[in-house]
Amino acid sequence: MKEVLLVKYGEIAMRGKNRRLIENRLIKIIQKNISSFGNYNVIKEQGRFIIEGDNDKFDYDNIIPYVINIPGVTAVCLGIRLEDQSIENIRKNALEHMKMYFSKDNFTFKVETKRSDKRYPLDSRQVSADVGGYVLNNMKNSKVDVHNPQVVLMVELRNNAYIYSKLIYGVGGLPVGSSGKALLLMSGGIDSPVAGFLAAKRGTSISAVYFDSPPYTSERAKQKVKDIAERLCVFTGGIKLYIVPFTDVQLYLYENVPEEKITIFLKRAMLKTAEKIAVENNYSALITGDSIGQVASQTLPAINAINSAAKEVVVLRPLLGLDKQEIVDISKKIGTFEISIRPYEDCCTIFVAKHPETKPKKSIIENIELKLDNLDNLILDAKNNCEIIEF
Ligand code: ATP
Ligand code: MG
Repeated sequence: MKEVLLVKYGEIAMRGKNRRLIENRLIKIIQKNISSFGNYNVIKEQGRFIIEGDNDKFDYDNIIPYVINIPGVTAVCLGIRLEDQSIENIRKNALEHMKMYFSKDNFTFKVETKRSDKRYPLDSRQVSADVGGYVLNNMKNSKVDVHNPQVVLMVELRNNAYIYSKLIYGVGGLPVGSSGKALLLMSGGIDSPVAGFLAAKRGTSISAVYFDSPPYTSERAKQKVKDIAERLCVFTGGIKLYIVPFTDVQLYLYENVPEEKITIFLKRAMLKTAEKIAVENNYSALITGDSIGQVASQTLPAINAINSAAKEVVVLRPLLGLDKQEIVDISKKIGTFEISIRPYEDCCTIFVAKHPETKPKKSIIENIELKLDNLDNLILDAKNNCEIIEF
C-alpha cells in the first residue's frame, strides 16, 4: 500500500487544444513547489494528477499547502494505491484508510466506484456495496447516506486500485498562463501582492514592477519586494521583477507640482513607466492594489485622475471591492503578510502631502502635467535603467 495525493483541477476542461499545454504548466508548478520535500512525481491521469513519492508514506502536512493554493487546483484527496486489487485487499485497506481520518466523530458516507478495468470480476455497484458494507460494519460512528454524504469514499480500479476519501478544497480558478500576461505594480505593501495573486488565480501570468527611490528608500525595502516576489512564485511558477530607479522622477515631481497633488502625479508617473514596460514586453494589462476609498489617492475621483495616464493597456484593480480585513486575510493565506508588514518605508510615504487632495480633477492634473517638460525624458531614463530579476 502506497500513500498518494489526488489533485483535481477545474476549468481547464474548457480550454480546448491548449489543454495539454496548460496541464503541463500546472504539473511543472506543482513539481517545483514540492521538490524540496523529497522525491515526488506528478502523474497525469484522465483529468487529474496523482502525486506519489519514493516512499510508501506521503508527507501530506508539508506538501498539501503547496498544492492547494496553486491557481487551477480545485481540490486534493488523500488516498492510497494498491497493487493487489482483490476485493478482500481493497475492503481491508479501505477500512484502514477510513479509520485513519474519520475515527473521531460520527460521519455519513457513500462509496463510489469507477472501474476502467472491465475485466474486473465485480461490477462497480458490487464493489461499492461490498466496501460500503464492510466499513459500515466495522466503524460504529459511520452511517450511509447516498444523497448527501459528508464523505465520499472513492474506489478506482485501473492498473492498480486507488482509494480516496478526505477531500480538501483548493483555491480553484484557472491555471497560470491560460489568460495572458500582465504586469503588477508591486510595492512592498500588503495590497499589491494580493492583487497579483487574485489576477494569477484567474490564470494570468504575472510579472512585477517595483519603483525604487534610493537613498530615500532602503536596500531592505527592496529586499522585501524581492522576498514577496519569491513567495508569489509558489502560486505562479515564476516571476520577472523589474526594479525601476525612480528617485529622479520623484524629485522632479516634488519640485514641480502642487504639494497636495504630489501622490496623484507620482501614481501617474508609475503607470506611464509601467505602461512602457508593458508595451515593450507584450503585457496586456497593468495591475494595481487599489481598493476604493482606502486612502486619499484611491477615491474614485483620484483613481480617475490617475487612470488616464495609461493609454495603451488596461489597468486592472482586482481589490477594488475588498475591505482591508479581507485583503489581510488573503495575504495571510498566501504567506505574503509577514513579509509585507516588515517596517520599511516605500517611496509613496516619503514625499507625502499633509493634506492630500481627495477630489482631484483629471483635466487640471492633465494640464499641469503637459507643462512638466522633462517628465517624459526622466520616465524614459528610469525605464531604460531598470534592473530585471527572474525568480
Ligand atoms: P500596497 O499595500 O500595495 O502598498 P497601498 O494601500 O499602500 O498599497 P498606495 O501606496 O496608494 O496603496 O499604492 C496603490 C498601488 O500603487 C499599490 O497597490 C501598487 O499597485 C502601486 N504602487 C505604490 N507604490 C509602488 C511602488 N513603489 N512600486 C510599485 N508599485 C507601487
Ligand atoms: Mg503601499
